[in-house]
Amino acid sequence: MKKGLLIVLSGPSGAGKGTICQNLCRQLMGIYYSISVTTRPPRRGEKDGVNYYFITEREFEDLKEQGGLLEWARVYGNYYGTPRYKVEQRRSEGCDVILEIDIEGAKQVRERCEDAVFLFLLPPSMKELRTRIEGRGTERPDIIKERFSTAYRELEEIRHYDYMVINDDIQEAVDIIKAVIAAEKCRVSRNEEILNRLLEEGGIR
Ligand code: 5GP
Repeated sequence: MKKGLLIVLSGPSGAGKGTICQNLCRQLMGIYYSISVTTRPPRRGEKDGVNYYFITEREFEDLKEQGGLLEWARVYGNYYGTPRYKVEQRRSEGCDVILEIDIEGAKQVRERCEDAVFLFLLPPSMKELRTRIEGRGTERPDIIKERFSTAYRELEEIRHYDYMVINDDIQEAVDIIKAVIAAEKCRVSRNEEILNRLLEEGGIR
């Protein structure tokens, strides 16, 4: 069975990563949206095992030491990480996996999984980004300020990504990501087995 694609989506807070991932998973069959572990307390409406697995710092440390995390990072004072086992299991079943992670985590995935695809989600403008961050209403003013200045720094990382997607219209952005996924699956380097079988059938090999 062909291994599923590993898709990494990063972008500043307020770019709309969560919404895009949810819509993508609703519209595409056979894609698994990886649920991260975090030491951040749940926001109103967030559920354990749905949005994140909410764990203690001690539990996070243990998981990290046991090699249970594919990547991890400290973001805005809290720890976040991707459970390795589920990602590998799903991929080996042929299921595509999407990780919504920050730029530090993406760097680690780049070193460990050279076949992953890296996408960076952008807001249509920085003014719009500010409006979106403020509009959430779930953060304190100092956190809003920090998230906005971090967004500027994160933009410099974009050159390490394969694709940039501007999230002006949700459906348009989702359609672009679907197109990227479809194109990536057609890469010759990802289809060596099929190619070899065809060549064998034709008596060339
Ligand atoms: P939030 O607290 O708003 O849900 O997420 C804050 C930041 O942490 C976002 O940029 C999000 O992409 C990032 N993040 C969420 N899960 C993970 C993860 O498993 N690993 C890393 N490296 N970053 C994550």
